[in-house]
Amino acid sequence: MPSLRRIVKDATNQNIQRCVGCLDCNLEAEGQDVPLGSIIQLALMDDDECLTCSTLWSEDVLAKATVSCAEGLNLKKIILVLREEAHRRGLA
Ligand code: SF4
Repeated sequence: MPSLRRIVKDATNQNIQRCVGCLDCNLEAEGQDVPLGSIIQLALMDDDECLTCSTLWSEDVLAKATVSCAEGLNLKKIILVLREEAHRRGLA
């Protein structure tokens, strides 16, 4: 199974290895159990928690995920790819 890093790269041409874990992308949004930036870090570790956490599935988070990332990552696109992958793995 390809890594989540590879899946995001193939789908969005973004390398989540650029995430430095600064958490500047933290949002005031409903339905979060982990900070948005932590999802990226969990994805880097191929930890399934990033696919099942409430934050990934929060529509409020998705709507507000236009915050600028210090490393230029498009967080909205990454959320959508991770949701798709969660469906593919039967985790959603
Ligand atoms: S702002 Fe960007 S680099 Fe910082 S934690 Fe969020 S995704 Fe990672």
